[in-house]
Amino acid sequence: MRVIDKLEMIKKHINEACKQSNRNPEEINIIAVTKYVSSDRAKEAIEAGIQDLGENRDEGLLNKWETLGDKPFWHFIGTLQSRKVKNIIDKVSYIHSLDRLSLAKEINKRADKPISCFVQVNVSGEESKHGLLPEDTVDFIEKLEQFENIRVIGLMTMAPHIEDETLLRNCFRKLKLLQKEVENLHLESAPCHELSMGMSNDYKIAIEEGATYIRIGTALVGGE
Ligand SMILES: *Cc1c(COP(=O)(O)O)cnc(C)c1O
Repeated sequence: MRVIDKLEMIKKHINEACKQSNRNPEEINIIAVTKYVSSDRAKEAIEAGIQDLGENRDEGLLNKWETLGDKPFWHFIGTLQSRKVKNIIDKVSYIHSLDRLSLAKEINKRADKPISCFVQVNVSGEESKHGLLPEDTVDFIEKLEQFENIRVIGLMTMAPHIEDETLLRNCFRKLKLLQKEVENLHLESAPCHELSMGMSNDYKIAIEEGATYIRIGTALVGGE
């Protein structure tokens, strides 16, 4: 199926979820996650009107960068090892996986301008997941104030792989509460207005619960 047709369907779902929750669809930014697909398919997404691409590994990002350059905004969405920061830092506009001070320190050192970051939170507390525990998040973000090139624009989470709508909703709701809490601190280095949550299987619920960036792979560019 063509990306443009998939995108049309997703936009329809976004509109429905926004209607359901009294939100404006213009608040929702779609990131096409291209980690499973070719550069050609990523290009197809751009031609369909997508402006934001997400990759979870430095190799994937660099590989696609060679063909697509800075036409799209690049989002780094995966676990980021400190030693890889230098490879991607001048190419990405957003990092969604900031979860430790050592990483913040390296980003701060390598960047030559403030980088828009999401702090990753492990809302569900699953051991397999990266991210800060909710109770450690505020403290962590306050410590980031020392880094002039880190700008915390929001929080990010990955919901557990479950079908249970109530559990998913609770997970997103908790992240939203935490985002509000950070926003209310009015830290200059952490405006924290954004919420990066929702993937192919749960983006409608995430939008109903306040997502402003959704990260969609399979449902948007899959089935090449
Ligand atoms: C792969 C990935 C996605 C997209 O997953 P789909 O289920 O294919 O939509 C979103 N976020 C992160 C962090 C990912 O690694």
